[in-house]
Amino acid sequence: FGLATLGFYIGDSLASLILSGTIGYLSIKLIWTSGMELTDIAPKEIVEHVRKEILETKGICKCEKLRVRKAGAKTFVEATVKVPDYMNLEEAHATATRVEDALKKSLKNAEIVLHVEPLEKGMQTERLVEKLATEVEGVKEAHAATAVYTCGKLYVTLHASVDPSLSIEEAHNITKKIERKIIERLGSVENVGVHIEPFNEKMQKGSEVDENEIRRIELLRKILKVSNKF
Ligand SMILES: [Zn+2]
Ligand SMILES: [Zn+2]
Repeated sequence: FGLATLGFYIGDSLASLILSGTIGYLSIKLIWTSGMELTDIAPKEIVEHVRKEILETKGICKCEKLRVRKAGAKTFVEATVKVPDYMNLEEAHATATRVEDALKKSLKNAEIVLHVEPLEKGMQTERLVEKLATEVEGVKEAHAATAVYTCGKLYVTLHASVDPSLSIEEAHNITKKIERKIIERLGSVENVGVHIEPFNEKMQKGSEVDENEIRRIELLRKILKVSNKF
């Protein structure tokens, strides 16, 4: 049987796809063009409508510091929106543009200023992925996580080390749990590749043993089990 059928991540080619990395901070600001005085605070219903519309836009995780004002027929909207930090500048800009287009359409005459910030400030997606993996029962340690956002899809890979005495089936169940946990937290993830390796007590880290080695150990263990019965 092939290990690939058990859900093990074999190809490491995705790791080579790591793009520009994380955008520490980005801010897309439009120039506040109106010279008009913004004295009229918009009615609550309009503010809630704007908030709902922003949050319904694909790619937006949070909406903060929302200010909606009316000056004559014009509506002025200013907000800080949070996008996942694995988005690159182009994706973040496209997301902000989608919000602006939607608001301009529904408010008719509107001026929109969005400040775009990455979600999970202080924790990169890669570190978050590793943290989530270690929260899964049976995972001793996780490392080498990658999160690549490309063409609107997120690809995650990571190494997780487990007790070397676990069976292949138990290890497989752990990879399923890790996948589920990451998808739950990060939303739509196209693929989660988990590379399982035996935990090394001395190094307090996973040993880089290839899957064939794990398979050989597993087969050997099975043979020993069978021979013990006779
Ligand atoms: Zn591998
Ligand atoms: Zn590793």
